[in-house]
Amino acid sequence: MIPFAFASHWSLSVLFQSLFQHRYAAHRMYTMGPRTERALHLSTALVQGSSFLDPRAYAIMHREHHAFADTERDPHSPAHHKNPLRMMLQTARRYAGLLTGSIKSEPRFLGGYPEWPAVDRLFNQWTTRVAFGALYTLFYKRFATRRWHWALLPMHFVMGPVHGAIVNWCGHRYGYRNFASRDESRNTLPMDVLCMGELFQNNHHARPASPDFAAKRFELDPTWQVMRLLARLKLIRIAQAPQGEQAARGRAPLRENSGGALAASPSL
Ligand SMILES: [Zn+2]
Ligand SMILES: [Zn+2]
Repeated sequence: MIPFAFASHWSLSVLFQSLFQHRYAAHRMYTMGPRTERALHLSTALVQGSSFLDPRAYAIMHREHHAFADTERDPHSPAHHKNPLRMMLQTARRYAGLLTGSIKSEPRFLGGYPEWPAVDRLFNQWTTRVAFGALYTLFYKRFATRRWHWALLPMHFVMGPVHGAIVNWCGHRYGYRNFASRDESRNTLPMDVLCMGELFQNNHHARPASPDFAAKRFELDPTWQVMRLLARLKLIRIAQAPQGEQAARGRAPLRENSGGALAASPSL
């Protein structure tokens, strides 16, 4: 029961991060009605629980990452840190500053992200984070049957930042490159299911507006498959087709190596 619950929480948490905070809040890769947006916003908050990432702060910091990828101004580049922990600390400091307003970003990185003050405020409170942590602990108390199960518990508290650190560290350090982008981005796994497509960093940096992070035949982007399903159910509308499909339909190809995160963002 516990390993299954852990795997489910891991997969869902990173799926919602990829689907909502990354591809919607930061990039606007799809549009949807206001009620669907609210439903997705709330679902993301409930699934991520203790480690909910504020969509506005996430979007701003992620746009900075695309614009300054692997330079001194990148908020989280492994090229400028000795280990993942130091990179996480710097990321956390900038994220907290953007969240509270003590750090101001450039105007070009602002706007176009979903904001729901009541939910964002509630889920960013420490009392809410601790309450979710207590719920996870009660669940483990009820269902843990082996001592090693308890070693998994702390991960539930910090899942969001851990997913971000894995993607930012590994995705800019290990793996292969399909495109000669200006940054150090890599595709870490040929079949990235552990991080729902987020580890196709090289493909994504080269084609920041393409909703499908897979670029080669052997690559599979799980979040893109979920987006296709949601689009088929008419819950979302994909803003721009992936490059392969676009070429087949005779439309203009996506810009490559633009370094811009915001090609799909209407406000920037
Ligand atoms: Zn990146
Ligand atoms: Zn991105």
